[in-house]
Amino acid sequence: MTTMSCRRHSCFISVVLLLLVLVVVVPSSVAIDSILSRFQQYLQIDTSHPSPNYHQAADFILSQAKSLSLESQTLEFVKNKPLILLKWTGKNPHLPSILLNSHTDVVPVEPHKWSHPPFDAAINHQNGNIYARGSQDMKCVGLQYLEAIRKLKDSNFEPLRTIYISFVPDEEIGGHDGAEKFAKSKIFDEMNVGIMLDEGLASPEDNYRLFYAERCPMWLVIKATGAPGHGAKLYDNTAMENLLKSIESVRRFRASQFDLVKAGLKAEGEVVSVNMVFLKAGTPSPTGFVMNLQPSEAQAGFDIRVPPIADQASLERRIAEEWAPASRNMTFEFKQKVSVYDENGKPIMTGHDSSNPWWSLLEAAILEANGKIGKPEIFPASTDARYFRLRGIPAIGFSPMANTPILLHDHNEFLNKEEYLKGIDVYVSILKAFASFVEAEKDTAAFRDEL
Ligand SMILES: [Zn+2]
Repeated sequence: MTTMSCRRHSCFISVVLLLLVLVVVVPSSVAIDSILSRFQQYLQIDTSHPSPNYHQAADFILSQAKSLSLESQTLEFVKNKPLILLKWTGKNPHLPSILLNSHTDVVPVEPHKWSHPPFDAAINHQNGNIYARGSQDMKCVGLQYLEAIRKLKDSNFEPLRTIYISFVPDEEIGGHDGAEKFAKSKIFDEMNVGIMLDEGLASPEDNYRLFYAERCPMWLVIKATGAPGHGAKLYDNTAMENLLKSIESVRRFRASQFDLVKAGLKAEGEVVSVNMVFLKAGTPSPTGFVMNLQPSEAQAGFDIRVPPIADQASLERRIAEEWAPASRNMTFEFKQKVSVYDENGKPIMTGHDSSNPWWSLLEAAILEANGKIGKPEIFPASTDARYFRLRGIPAIGFSPMANTPILLHDHNEFLNKEEYLKGIDVYVSILKAFASFVEAEKDTAAFRDEL
């Protein structure tokens, strides 16, 4: 009997322990599974160019908003390019609001070059990586915002400031029908945005990367003309010779900038990058090109990116005097030229030290969530954040992806599930800090004037 009751007793304890384990562990693993499953569902929607399925993405986001009791509206600045705007009204809606922005489109894929189908969003159970186009750029961030809000709502947090979440189309093709029109709209003015967050980049190190500005594109085409002649004749001022002299000059400049990066003196986003993207010359023949004729025209195209800390005017002088001088029968044009200055002539960048309270809050919130932060950076390419900075809104680029190779626009883009989950907690910390922040409004105005 004694043994029996003892056994029953230990059996009872085991059952209680098992129940406890079930109560404590299972719901959280169920919660994690549903968090990951929502991310997978979003990634499975093919929003790749040239024909992104925006409506399916919009329906998905709207269903998420409904489950979170967020207000929502669908804006179509251009037909069939929906922009979803969600709102969590703060207790003091008169305070400047917070805008969390992400784009719903992704770049195209070459599926046969992927180890996992790019729109399956399968989780590799050996390493926990989620492979999908958009896993880094930037469907992760869009859903992390929503998951952070879910956690905050579950903990009964109430924001003081209103939080807006925008899901915009077309970032990958310039954002002209998405963020650009949105940032210029009356709706945006009425939102009274005090700070916005947008995308950053993955970091292979264990620190997160924060971006306060971005380089501006100058897409340059230089053209050379010269007398045509026999392929055997040596003479001066041929179009090809003139163009080659320019290319040599561009190459020297490119090397001087790249050397600064290689020597560790400057970060990638702090130098002017110049890359030749096309060369056009020669006289076509049915079998290729005419070989015994020196052509009368030749041109080359360059993708140039200029950081707002560089002297854009002196670069333009260099182009006119060295890269495409009229003295060598050369001309040039810009296919696109974005100014690094705002309408008041100030370089377009967000304060990235203690002079910007949002920057300090962001850094503290990331550290609070056990994240590490690298040196503030200039984004090497373009994002939608530029349209908001242009309006004088402080904008910070941040995608919480540490210990992750940079695979945006690459084959086998992936994000590890642990990194994704950690990022949600980082946003919980940031939103708590941002949404609770109280500052005298005149200070905000003065601060915005300084931007
Ligand atoms: Zn992106």
